[in-house]
Amino acid sequence: MKRLFICLMLLLPVGVLAQEAAVKKIMQMAREDNRTMQHLDILCNRIGGRPAGSNACEVAEQWTAKTFKEWGLEVTIEKAGELGVGFNRGGWWGRMTGEESMTLHFATPSYSSGTKGPQKGHVVIEPRTEEEFNRMRGVLRGAWVLVNGKSGGWGLPHGEKAKENRHRIIAANAEAAKYNREHAGQDGERKPIDENTPALFYDEMIEAGALGFIQAAEVPICALYDRNVVLDGAKSFDDLAKVPSILLNEEQYARIRTLAQQRRQVELEFDIRNHFRLGPVAYNNVVAKIEGKKYPNEYVIVGAHIDAFDVATGGVDCGSGMSAVMEAARMIMASGAKPDRTIIFVMFAAEEFGLLGSQAWLKAHPDMLPKITNMFNRDGGPMPYTSFSVPQSLLKEYEKVVEPIHELYPDYNFTLNAITPFKKPTRLGGNDASTFSVAGIPAVQMADWADPKGYNFSYNEIWHTERDTYQKSIPEYQEQAAVTMALMVLGTANMPKQWPRNEVFLAE
Ligand SMILES: [Zn+2]
Repeated sequence: MKRLFICLMLLLPVGVLAQEAAVKKIMQMAREDNRTMQHLDILCNRIGGRPAGSNACEVAEQWTAKTFKEWGLEVTIEKAGELGVGFNRGGWWGRMTGEESMTLHFATPSYSSGTKGPQKGHVVIEPRTEEEFNRMRGVLRGAWVLVNGKSGGWGLPHGEKAKENRHRIIAANAEAAKYNREHAGQDGERKPIDENTPALFYDEMIEAGALGFIQAAEVPICALYDRNVVLDGAKSFDDLAKVPSILLNEEQYARIRTLAQQRRQVELEFDIRNHFRLGPVAYNNVVAKIEGKKYPNEYVIVGAHIDAFDVATGGVDCGSGMSAVMEAARMIMASGAKPDRTIIFVMFAAEEFGLLGSQAWLKAHPDMLPKITNMFNRDGGPMPYTSFSVPQSLLKEYEKVVEPIHELYPDYNFTLNAITPFKKPTRLGGNDASTFSVAGIPAVQMADWADPKGYNFSYNEIWHTERDTYQKSIPEYQEQAAVTMALMVLGTANMPKQWPRNEVFLAE
């Protein structure tokens, strides 16, 4: 028996044995030393919310680069772009006092302005017509203004274009009101009046001395960013909003609006410490490489995004991606694997501001694009991986890759399928994988939406909301995802051939 074993050993190429040893080592780490949640703890609770352009985002870049280096990967920091000003969020609180009192539950978008210290004021409901505005001009001084419409998470638009747009609506509303008055009772035809666009007299109210604007928001409160600062490329502090955009719990908003309508005596006080940084502030992709031994110029890309919104701490979006992908990298390195193809981990910058880091990365590496076998991306929740589709001609090979996944995680019933070729997408979608597939690069993802153990996770609850914290992650799932990612990425790097693209995308 022993002799037979030695004979078999001689028949197997050394490379195959080394790969098997690496997989064994990963399985051992999966059982005894899975560090996924440690990485997440640092990202969320040491570094914190990290929108592109913030100090925290820079710390996250530095920490990620340093950590990859310590694990032995080859790291480069690649500039992906820059913002005209940067943003750092401090704390915030608010309360209502007077005839009724309560602690206010609210958030503000990133890159929106804060208060000038605690600012207390009475409440008014925004004027909707020229006539109303003139009647209220005096009372707007020192007031917090309740504005119409429900918050979508953005800061109220400001600047010249926004002003023109509002004036167009004010004029159209006046015309519609006039038409409706003149035709009242005749043919019954009425022109619609815009009741939803918030703060029609935005600039005029600020000039009259309003302290800031308050809009109703669903709970949990979603807070995005000030588009006029981030996307229109604010160059200096002069381009920032002059007053805060507050997104207030809609039940509180409704109560305060009722009190204001009844002309009751209540006051609101807010202290919002939204601060800015002198630009330009660069945002960077952190790129970590394990060089392939056999086909160094063929690549497997593994992505997640480094930036995260800061009303919470990016525990899921994209902490769940960053921490699992980093742990996969650590495990592959620590396993001593010598992959055939080069594996590149890219922690993308500024995903939340429009997939900016992944687009920059593709632009910077045109020579590599035809040689990418698949792009793996994790950015969808703290969920386990339960299936994967691969090119038909490699299905048999992948069955071997999946064996250790079955052995480690029998409850998850990981399944393997052949890809049914599909049309290459033409428009960017909701995450960095779509940047690759639009460019014709396979970016097929393992399924990550099943909740087999019943944790009742809701992506909507955390999506860019105040709830996206470390506690929303699911350690058991996150750890499974990291190990499954490590095994699948390594297996893909070691496939006998690069993925044939005609088995992924239909011919155009
Ligand atoms: Zn994301």
